[in-house]
Parts: sequence; structure tokens; C-alpha cells
Amino acid sequence: MAAARRRDAAPVRDRPDACPGAWRRHEAADGALARFRPVGGAISPAELRLLAAAAGSAPLEVTSRGSWQVRGLSDQGADDLAAALSRVGGPAPLLDEQGRDVPCSVVASPRSPALDAPARAVADALRGRTDVPGRLLVALDDGSGDVLGLDADVTVVLGGTLHLAGTPTGLTGDLAALALAAVEAFLTVRGEAWRVAEVGTERVVDGLRPREGYGSPEHPTSLTWPEAIEVLPRLGEVHTEAAAVLADLGDEGATLRVTPWRTVVLRDVTDPDDARARLDGLVETGPSPWSTLSACVGAPRCAKSHTDVRGDLARAVAEGRAGGALHAHWVGCARACGTPAGPVAVVEGTSDGTYRTIARAGKVCP
Ligand code: SF4
Repeated sequence: MAAARRRDAAPVRDRPDACPGAWRRHEAADGALARFRPVGGAISPAELRLLAAAAGSAPLEVTSRGSWQVRGLSDQGADDLAAALSRVGGPAPLLDEQGRDVPCSVVASPRSPALDAPARAVADALRGRTDVPGRLLVALDDGSGDVLGLDADVTVVLGGTLHLAGTPTGLTGDLAALALAAVEAFLTVRGEAWRVAEVGTERVVDGLRPREGYGSPEHPTSLTWPEAIEVLPRLGEVHTEAAAVLADLGDEGATLRVTPWRTVVLRDVTDPDDARARLDGLVETGPSPWSTLSACVGAPRCAKSHTDVRGDLARAVAEGRAGGALHAHWVGCARACGTPAGPVAVVEGTSDGTYRTIARAGKVCP
């Protein structure tokens, strides 16, 4: 019955999903916006420098799915950036040598090297595909639960089970094989749906069961995490100087992973104290009121915004009026772009120049 209700409630789409990518840009008030989806959060120093150079004096943006965004591009500049990224190469490039990007987000627990290879396998199998909705979210969790909590369309937990839209299915298997099988099962039944929840998890599981046998689940005997530090760019904005230091640390041996909670994890850092000192003042390197704050882009970069959301928020933080325990998401209009899934206070700018706050409980489990 519940599945039937969900099917009945599936939206009727009159357009394909319009998620931007490396080659398909969103035309914003400040120019073209290009989005680059990393493979399990991976980015190389060369890629980071190219993104930062293309952004110019504007910051790079880290999205709530751990993607990179560059704003204010000309069409030619965006094409040139994608072409340059295609030439970088490496084990987990944003774009491969054929210029193919990953059509949907593939995220992974950022501290765990054990997920690097499975994330690459999933992303490489999906590269360049036009039948995969950009809204789809695939997550590989190392057992820590960090990306499991995102309730992604498809999540496979190391040594555990497949979860669909946050619901455990009981199916187990090799991480990459099971994740890809689940994506294919969803694509078979999705019609015009973009997310697993729109068609119901049962229909995807039904597509998987007849073909069970997705390899053995990995049961690592010793899951170890290398030394790592995690830093927080305010509102996901990575400015030129911060990008330069992060890229330098990458050159010195650090492995960079951007996260869906808009932080950057640096694994294999040789001298964490030195790294923090070099990044201090460019990003948040310790406890910060900004850790529970997010915001849409607001005016002047979004024409729909009633106000300069980010400027207003910065003043509120400076005056101690924002940055409490409950996550607060500030937005410039009722569309509330980028509102996170969990419990959140949406602080919405209104046409009369004031803000109103709407508390959202997020997903409620029966
Ligand atoms: S919430 Fe409104 S103001 Fe903010 S980015 Fe979305 S459309 Fe623009």
C-alpha cells in the first residue's frame, strides 16, 4: 500500500532534469555556472588550481553534495575549463580524457582509503551516460555512517547492506557491483522520475532480486584511517588563497577529499599542525559557529533574492546572532534552495526586508 501511494504521488515531469555539469551550464544572473562532481570527493592539486584560476577573484563553491561549482563563466571560458580538466588525467579525474564527467554525485566516506577504488569503479561505469539523472545520489559508506546519514538514493555500506533512499534492503554484495546494479534497477523502472523515493524502493528491489549475486560483501579485518584533518570553508566558499594552500598541501602528499557537508578532508598530511597553521584564517580549522550554518547564494548573484543573504548572515555571526546548535539555512526567497534534509531552521528573507524562521523536522521515521 505504501509503495502504491508513492507511485501514485510520483511527479509528472514536463522537462528533463536541469542539473548543471561540466559541459551543461546553468545560466545565472552572474554568468554561466559549471558544476564538477568528484569521484568520492577526490580532487587533485592540478584540478583545484584550474578551477580556482577559472573562478578568478570569485570563490569556488562546494555544494551540499560535495561537488565543486564555478560561477560567472563565459561560455567560452566554461568550455576552456572543461577541456583543460580533461587533460589533467589521474586515477579519479573530474573529467576523463574524453571529456566525460560523472552524471550524478558519487560520494564516499572521506577518511577511508578503502573506498577509493569502489568509488572509482562506480563513477567510471557511469561517466558520460545521459540516462542517469543528475539528481541521483550514490553513496559508499565505510561503516562510520557519515554518508549513510545522507539518505542517498543508493547507499552501500562496507561489509553491510544496500540502502535505498535511506531504507535498508537486506541485500549485500561487493560495494561497487551492488551500487551499480541498484542504479541500473532504478533506471529500468524510473520512467521520468529522478530519485528512488519517487518510484518507491520496492520497485527497485524487485528489479534487483531476480539477479541476486553481486559478489561478496567486503569485510575488512582492519579498517584503518590515516592521519587526517578536516577544514571548513565558510558557506562552502573556497577563495583563491585557500585553494592555493590546499593545492600546495596536495603536492606535498596530502590526499584531498571534499565532503557533502561542505568541508575538505586532508588525508596523509605529513605535518597536521603546519597544515592547520597555513590554512588558518583562510578556512575554519577548529570549532566554529559556521559549522551549523549554510546559505543560498542570494543577491546580487541570484535575481530572485530579496536580500544579500550571505552578507546578512556574516553580520549576524559577527554579532553573535547566528551559529547555534541547530543547523540554520539562510535563503533569499521562499524557494529555499539548498535546504539540507535533516532538522533545520530555514531563515528566509522576505520582500519587506525582514527574515522569518521556519523550523523543519526533516525526515520523520515511523
Ligand atoms: S533560495 Fe531564492 S534567492 Fe536563494 S538561490 Fe534560491 S532562488 Fe535564489
